[in-house]
Amino acid sequence: MELEGVPTELFVGGAWRGSEDGSRFDVTDPATGDVITSVANGTVADGMAAVEAAHAAAPAWAATPPRVRGEILRKAFGLMIERSDQIARLMTAENGKALPDARGEVAYAAEFFRWFSEEAVRLAGSISTAPSGANRILVVHQPVGVSVLVTPWNFPAAMATRKIGPALAAGCPVILKPASETPLTALLMAKLLAEAGVPDGVVNVVPSTRSGKVVGAMLADARVRKLSFTGSTEVGRILLQQAAENIVKCSMELGGNAPFVVFADADLDAAVAGAMLAKMRNGGEACTAANRFYVQAPVADEFARRLAEKMGALRMGAGAEDGVELGPLVNASTRDKVDALVKGTVAAGATLVIGGEPASGPGYFYPPTVLTGVPVGAPVLVEEIFGPVAPVVSFDTEEEAVRLANQTEFGLVSYVYTGDLARGLRVAEAIESGMVGINRGLVSDPAAPFGGVKQSGIGREGGHDGLLEFTESKYIAANW
Ligand code: ADP
Repeated sequence: MELEGVPTELFVGGAWRGSEDGSRFDVTDPATGDVITSVANGTVADGMAAVEAAHAAAPAWAATPPRVRGEILRKAFGLMIERSDQIARLMTAENGKALPDARGEVAYAAEFFRWFSEEAVRLAGSISTAPSGANRILVVHQPVGVSVLVTPWNFPAAMATRKIGPALAAGCPVILKPASETPLTALLMAKLLAEAGVPDGVVNVVPSTRSGKVVGAMLADARVRKLSFTGSTEVGRILLQQAAENIVKCSMELGGNAPFVVFADADLDAAVAGAMLAKMRNGGEACTAANRFYVQAPVADEFARRLAEKMGALRMGAGAEDGVELGPLVNASTRDKVDALVKGTVAAGATLVIGGEPASGPGYFYPPTVLTGVPVGAPVLVEEIFGPVAPVVSFDTEEEAVRLANQTEFGLVSYVYTGDLARGLRVAEAIESGMVGINRGLVSDPAAPFGGVKQSGIGREGGHDGLLEFTESKYIAANW
């Protein structure tokens, strides 16, 4: 991987600099376990310097005309498309994902800049007459202020642009704390944004392995008014507690445990194709990944057989190699967790159709795995798998399918395949999740509100809602 032009220092107040204590941390290639490079390791003082820089830049950025903010984002979109090959290869190098997945992500990630460049000029408020007739009610949406963004490693570019895009469009300066596994993509994004014309201090990036301390200190600073987090429910819960102290506004995109429901009246070819997308996009390392397949009894065996055939045919290898469709998992602990979930499920009585053993040798490879006869309550149905593993469970009635689908504390996304649209809509309404795909294995779209219910999160990203998350509504009572 050619790293020329990829920054490895902190980005604070428009300057690239080492960390205050001079420390650095390694970034590794999941396909080999080898170190690619090292990155400056932000300290609490560096986090505070970023808050200072963002706070200083806030008034001028909020006062910058929406059209100007939008055009900077539009330029950043263009730069991402122009450099998509470099960005995709960088993501494959630090995250491991297969190059086709990385290319797909660059296109998706760039669209957030384009979408929010268009939304920047559409932040309309409202005016109405109070019911009593006593006054007018004016509502304006103002930027919330300094925003801390914390992102995971599974979509290193898209999780950053999905937060930076709306924050900048709304007029907020940001401090991004990317995942320690994938800081390089975030740093490259910052470089590109600066090139697109983002003023100094409006975008700051502080990679750090001391995330608890650094993010905790930022949330304890009264100048920080917003937290947008994507990651595990476990860490999200800690951050919500920390944010409570200063009543910091929070958008939380947390874990998922998506059910994928197939009725016997579904087009089975389409259901298998959708299952491949919902399960195998990003090698299964997505919070939207289908985690549990519920298939109506008459077609359950046939569906499992066809899915196993398609999953088993994927070529696994180093993500950058030609023809590879499934890269390694991001690190050893993720691979070991997948392994333990599968072994625990087999021990609980499930049958392995394919896969089931991590690959030996260097890198963190886990093969496509399909399980049938998975008993209710098996670990793989309860926890987020984050790997290429598909457990298949059969059901009899629609009511049973909805009950099984809702048997989780999560509620991010669900998928339903049926030839009966009325049934599809009925089930979509009954399922407890923030998003539902009907005869679709992919729902993510920058123009749509992405987010979960229950313990999958608070708030929405994308669409117009995504912009409003970085604003405060101000009500002005007026007479004239
Ligand atoms: P994942 O399973 O995707 O790694 P995590 O919730 O562990 O999800 O991490 C998501 C992001 O949160 C990463 O940027 C990580 O560094 C950061 N993070 C992890 N622990 C903490 C913490 N205690 N405080 C703040 N950020 C954290």
